[in-house]
Amino acid sequence: MSVLVHLCQSCGHQQSWHSAGNGGYTSCRCCRADQCDPAPEPVLLQTFSFPGWQIEPPLPPGTVRNSGSMHATTSCACDACLAAYQRLAGIARPA
Ligand SMILES: [Zn+2]
Ligand SMILES: [Zn+2]
Ligand SMILES: [Zn+2]
Repeated sequence: MSVLVHLCQSCGHQQSWHSAGNGGYTSCRCCRADQCDPAPEPVLLQTFSFPGWQIEPPLPPGTVRNSGSMHATTSCACDACLAAYQRLAGIARPA
């Protein structure tokens, strides 16, 4: 699985780490203070994958992960993520 995330330009952690519910999981002061400065362009974060494996298309923007659990998160669905997703997934969108 892979997912598009925005990294904080201040501390380099994922934007989602800054949200209130996740503050306890990191010792990063920026994250705990919820002062994220997300980069406008998302990066593709690969999980459960190995070098040489084919790159999987990321989760579609706006997908809820781990639904029903305490750790439910929704993948970002901003314009940059939508554009990156379409690029990565090879989806041609009529201009
Ligand atoms: Zn941080
Ligand atoms: Zn940060
Ligand atoms: Zn986004």
